[in-house]
Amino acid sequence: MKENEVTKSANSVKSILFSFMIFFSANITVNAQDDFLKELLNTADILNETLLEVTALSDDEENSIGIELEKQILSDMRVVRERKFDLKKIFNDMMSYVDRTNINYGYKVVSTDEVNAYAIAGGRMFFNTGILDFLETEDEIAFVMAHEIAHNELRHCIKRVQYAAIASSIDPSFGEIVQLAYGIYSMPFTKYDEYEADELGVWLMKKAGYDKQGAVDFFTKLEELEKEYGIDERDAVNDFISSHPTARDRRDRVKNM
Ligand SMILES: [Zn+2]
Repeated sequence: MKENEVTKSANSVKSILFSFMIFFSANITVNAQDDFLKELLNTADILNETLLEVTALSDDEENSIGIELEKQILSDMRVVRERKFDLKKIFNDMMSYVDRTNINYGYKVVSTDEVNAYAIAGGRMFFNTGILDFLETEDEIAFVMAHEIAHNELRHCIKRVQYAAIASSIDPSFGEIVQLAYGIYSMPFTKYDEYEADELGVWLMKKAGYDKQGAVDFFTKLEELEKEYGIDERDAVNDFISSHPTARDRRDRVKNM
């Protein structure tokens, strides 16, 4: 594609997206900006893969976004050393099998009780001390890490940044893209993205020499935790204890993989 064709194509995709935005803004109620963006991200996902091709960022650009975003996320968090599991070994075992070898994969352990882990664009991952306390075996943490790596292998994280950039009315600068990314990094993925990351995660953990049973055990325990939280109290932005898909649903799928 020539450059002007790319621009033309990007503009037409943009106008389709704006039509969707108008559709949704007509249907949303007050104070629903987050829901609106969530809805947009869900819809855009189904909307058009071309959208992603014309706005594709290079791995270097993605890495730069990841580094800046990580700085912002960590600015009000305490990074701690992990002693319970050998995360470095598990991480290194997995790195031999990633496809996106130019991505700056890495992780940090942050001191927060919430049972959660998440990934951002550029391969950066965060494990809360809450989830490490919750997990019992190396196979369980191996699955959680493989799942987070999978979100980046499958470009789920950068895809959302791309959509947010397209949806913004201006042509965002690098700094503005980082701000957009900061605004959405903790939003939940679609359930299809979660299923896809579970599937690739299971593949990756097995390749790296870990037992899939760790994934099954993790979701079994998570189901118990969900009961404690109560259906309505599940955290909408948690990568694991979210309103959809449920732990039981994910465990049943993992069992059949
Ligand atoms: Zn996930």
